[in-house]
Amino acid sequence: MEYVFWDTNKELPDTYEYLERIEDYLGRRVVRFKADLGFDHWYDVYGGMIPSNHRRWCTKMLKLKPFEEYVGDDIVVNYVGLRADERRTGYISHKPNITPVYPFQEDGLILADIREILDASGVGLPPYHSWGRSRSGCFFCFYQQKIEWVRLKERYPHLYEEAKEYERPFEGSGNTFTWSERESLSELEKPERMRAIKEDHAKRSAANNKSDANLTLAEIFGRRRDLEEDKDDGCLICTL
Ligand code: SF4
Repeated sequence: MEYVFWDTNKELPDTYEYLERIEDYLGRRVVRFKADLGFDHWYDVYGGMIPSNHRRWCTKMLKLKPFEEYVGDDIVVNYVGLRADERRTGYISHKPNITPVYPFQEDGLILADIREILDASGVGLPPYHSWGRSRSGCFFCFYQQKIEWVRLKERYPHLYEEAKEYERPFEGSGNTFTWSERESLSELEKPERMRAIKEDHAKRSAANNKSDANLTLAEIFGRRRDLEEDKDDGCLICTL
């Protein structure tokens, strides 16, 4: 068994901390690799296009390709930590020598089971859960929800600033892209906007705890929107 982590160099400090915790538990080193050409190189190649769900060049260039190159033609079984209650499909290699397997799904393990396993092992949940972030991956990952951007700004303001730096007209094309849908990070960080995002999130969280029968139509719509936001093919190869 070989444990491999592809580092984009744009990771959260929490991710490195968690990797160390996992290594302590395993008594084995998690091999860390960096793609030869990093995010900023490909950002330039793609004309300053910030990646998104529909333009996900980052996963391909920083994770998938380097992984497949590392594997080469060896016969590999790739263990994917997708739970039985997740709707994502995960990364499925098209290389015939790589076979993905989903042990948690095969055993029908859901979130509560995984929490129990992590607690019992002493590894626990990744540190970013304590400040309300649901996934690892790059600190600027476009998959994060608005509330997670707010929390990133509060927790790691310098990383928020670094993400903001990408939202400027790209030299040559003049195009500007944003990480988050429909607004720039400069707009999102305005105190009144951050307050509104927090209030909206609190309302939706409260609604999500009610049964459908007790919801207003607006709340039902909000719940659906939350489910849609959570439903993504977020990089299983990116997140821990
Ligand atoms: S974590 Fe997000 S931004 Fe980073 S490579 Fe994966 S999809 Fe792209």
